[in-house]
Amino acid sequence: AKKSGKGCYVFWQRDFLKGSTPERVQMESELREAILKDELVLHFQPKVEAQTGKVYAFEALVRWNHPRLGLVYPDRFIGIAEESNLIIELDRWVLNAVVSQLTQWHQSGLPILEVSVNISAAHVTRLGLLDVFRSFLDQYPYLSECLEIELTETAIMADPDQATVVLNKLREWGVKASVDDFGSGYTSLGYLKKLNAHTLKIDRSFIDGITYDVYDRDVAKAIIALASSLSMDVVAEGVETQDQWDLLQAFGCKYLQGYFFSRPQCAQDIESDYLRPLQLQA
Ligand code: C2E
Ligand code: MG
Ligand code: MG
Ligand code: MG
Repeated sequence: AKKSGKGCYVFWQRDFLKGSTPERVQMESELREAILKDELVLHFQPKVEAQTGKVYAFEALVRWNHPRLGLVYPDRFIGIAEESNLIIELDRWVLNAVVSQLTQWHQSGLPILEVSVNISAAHVTRLGLLDVFRSFLDQYPYLSECLEIELTETAIMADPDQATVVLNKLREWGVKASVDDFGSGYTSLGYLKKLNAHTLKIDRSFIDGITYDVYDRDVAKAIIALASSLSMDVVAEGVETQDQWDLLQAFGCKYLQGYFFSRPQCAQDIESDYLRPLQLQA
C-alpha cells in the first residue's frame, strides 16, 4: 500500500489489466458497473506559477477504486473505455463529479480556482458534448469562471474541424481549453491558430530531458516561443526537479505542473492544503 497525500490511501496491483481479450471484456463490463456504482474517484493535481510557485489551478484526474484491485490508474482503463462508447459515460461521470465538487467548494465559501477536465477524442467529435456543457453552465453560471477542458493533440487532430467548432463554442461561453501533451503528436500549425485554444501543455517527455538533452531543450523552447507568438499560455507538465523549474522559468515558461510541486491528491487534501476560506485570507 502506498500513501498518496495525507488523507487517502492507494493500493494497486501491477500489470493486471493488460491481459487477454476475455479479461478486457470483463474489465469493460466491470468498468460499466463501476461508473454506475460510483467506484470512480477524482484526484486533483495543482498547477503553479513559475515565478512564485503559487498554485493557481488544478487538473482533475480520474482513478478507479476497484473492489479487488484497489486504486487503478487511468492508463489502465481509459484505453478500454475508448474502444467502446463507455468513454462517453466515463467522461460524463468525471464532468459531473468535477461540477459537484466545484459547487460544494463554492457553496462552502472556498475560493474557486480553475479546474480542468480531460476529454477523450471520441467525445470531442460529438456535438452532445456542447449540450452537456451548456446545461451545466445554465445551471451554475459561475462555472464559466473556473471550468476548463484539456484535449490531447492527438484527439484534436483525429477530427480537427470538429475540434475547432467545439473549442470555439466553449471559448465563447467562457470555458478555456488546453492542448494536452503538445509536441508528442502532429498538430498542423495552421489548425492551432483556428482552434482558439487558450493554453499549450508541453508534453512530459520533453521536460524529462530538458536539463541534459539538447533536443528536448530546443523543443521545449520552441513550444514556449510558439505559444508566445500565438498569444497562448504555456504549461510544462511533469516537472520533477528544481533544475527543471529553473530552466523552464529562464526560458519564459509561465506555468508548471509536476510531482516536484505536488502529486495528484484527493479532494479532501486539496481542500486542507490549498483552499482557505475567503474570510480567513488577509
Ligand atoms: P494527462 O492529462 O497528460 O495527465 C498527466 C499525467 O501525468 C497524470 O497521470 C499525472 O498524474 C502524471 N504526472 C503529473 N506530474 C507528473 C510528474 O512530475 N512525473 C510523472 N512521471 N508523471 C506526472 P494519470 O493521472 O495516470 O493520467 C494519465 C492520463 O490519463 C492523463 O494524461 C489523461 O490523458 C488520461 N486521463 C486522466 N483522467 C482522465 C479523465 O477524467 N478523462 C479522460 N478522458 N482521460 C483522463
Ligand atoms: Mg491532462
Ligand atoms: Mg472562463
Ligand atoms: Mg498531458
